[in-house]
Amino acid sequence: MSSNEAKLTRYQKYKKTYQAYAQSHRDQINRGQRERYKLNPRRYKTKKYMDYQREYQRNWNKRHPLQRKEMQRKYKREHPEKQREYASRYPEKVKAHSIANNLKIPLEPECFLCGSTENLEKHHPNYSKPKLVQTVCKQCHTLIHTNVQEMNQP
Ligand SMILES: [Zn+2]
Ligand SMILES: [Zn+2]
Repeated sequence: MSSNEAKLTRYQKYKKTYQAYAQSHRDQINRGQRERYKLNPRRYKTKKYMDYQREYQRNWNKRHPLQRKEMQRKYKREHPEKQREYASRYPEKVKAHSIANNLKIPLEPECFLCGSTENLEKHHPNYSKPKLVQTVCKQCHTLIHTNVQEMNQP
């Protein structure tokens, strides 16, 4: 066995041990992370770290679609005030969403902007016309809304 191989095996062994440890001490590790964050939140506010966090979250969401839904439901249950806040801040948006949901307007088979057939969502180009719904993919949807926000800025 070459020394490189030995190193690799050692690393793999370490990884396995750590993974087992992480699995059985998940709460403890999370708590530790939260506490470190509380002690020095600024350390975690760097762009690099935020990007990393966002990317990690995105990957996690992709790998755990069901857990994510459950977490969203739980969050909604535990923070009804957030929903009220949102509803009072964007009354038109909320109304349009609920009308579109009740009408069960089906999605088109592809994004009307790029033609993608994955991660399709509904977009309201105009909240005062709740029945007018466009099918867009998640990526284009984000793009639309960032552009709309920029356009609305004075
Ligand atoms: Zn698209
Ligand atoms: Zn939209």
